Amino acid sequence: MKSVQPEVFLISRPQIDYQALAAYLEEVGGQSWLERLDRGDLDDAQNLAEFAGKLCYRAWEPGLNPNIVRVRNDQQAYLENILRMAHGSVLEHVTFGFVLHNVSRVVTHELVRHRPGVAISQESLRFVRLTDIPFWFPDWAREDPELISRATDLLGQMEEFQRWMAEHFELDTPGVPFTEKKHKTSFMRRLAPDGVATGIMWSANVRALRHTIEARTDPGAEEEIRMVFGMIGELMRTEAPALFGDYTVTDGAWIPRWRKV
Ligand SMILES: Cc1cc2nc3c(=O)[nH]c(=O)nc-3n(C[C@H](O)[C@H](O)[C@H](O)COP(=O)(O)OP(=O)(O)OC[C@H]3O[C@@H](n4cnc5c(N)ncnc54)[C@H](O)[C@@H]3O)c2cc1C
Repeated sequence: MKSVQPEVFLISRPQIDYQALAAYLEEVGGQSWLERLDRGDLDDAQNLAEFAGKLCYRAWEPGLNPNIVRVRNDQQAYLENILRMAHGSVLEHVTFGFVLHNVSRVVTHELVRHRPGVAISQESLRFVRLTDIPFWFPDWAREDPELISRATDLLGQMEEFQRWMAEHFELDTPGVPFTEKKHKTSFMRRLAPDGVATGIMWSANVRALRHTIEARTDPGAEEEIRMVFGMIGELMRTEAPALFGDYTVTDGAWIPRWRKV
């Protein structure tokens, strides 16, 4: 049994093609907005959200839409207003990709319940054989020596049983067809615990992220997914403070000022 710790890797973020954006803005007369933007590595997410919002009302500058006599020039204030008004579709353009590494199937099973605005690719234990059983113990469990001793014994037996089955089914004998390996590997995973650590790639747009960070850090949520979504919340607050800066964190629960955008 390998003791592991769940980790979150943020591996993709939005990128704007500013040349194409400039070409579009020239068509509609919004170049002055583009000139005001910061364009550092971490600015694209917020710039994209602002762009999508301003496109809706042609609010690049006063006068382009005769119905608009003033526009918000401050991005922080503009995006806060998007959140306040629950103008959520704007946030759906802004997508981030995460690898959740060494999370249990408890976490992945709960995660996939969130459907709109996400993409999921999960490590297949039908194809990937378990040669050991990586497992996370929460701190409170680690402090209980008898629990850890019994759990470690049990996991050790399960691990040994996985190895025994692989030998018994002769999976490593040259010439065993892959379909046979897949068939038996799929059977073998049934005899691994729900807590076995695995991996999943999870991409989500900002609207889905805001909802899931709140739902899955709620005090009623499961402890491992709470921890994972606390990490995601921290990452997002650094990535896009104007889109995630309204949360207050109390005892690990991320509570947004602007709910259900
Ligand atoms: C603390 C906690 C305990 C839970 N316990 C259980 C449990 O015991 N058993 C169990 O089966 N599940 C449980 N769940 C899962 C829960 O029932 C939901 O499936 C899960 O939270 C995803 O729902 P969501 O509202 O967050 O929707 P998401 O899929 O994240 O969608 C976001 C929002 O989009 C809208 N939406 C999405 N899909 C639809 C749709 N088809 N129709 C209309 N509107 C839609 C809704 O407004 C929804 O809130 C639990 C969840 C939590 C947070």
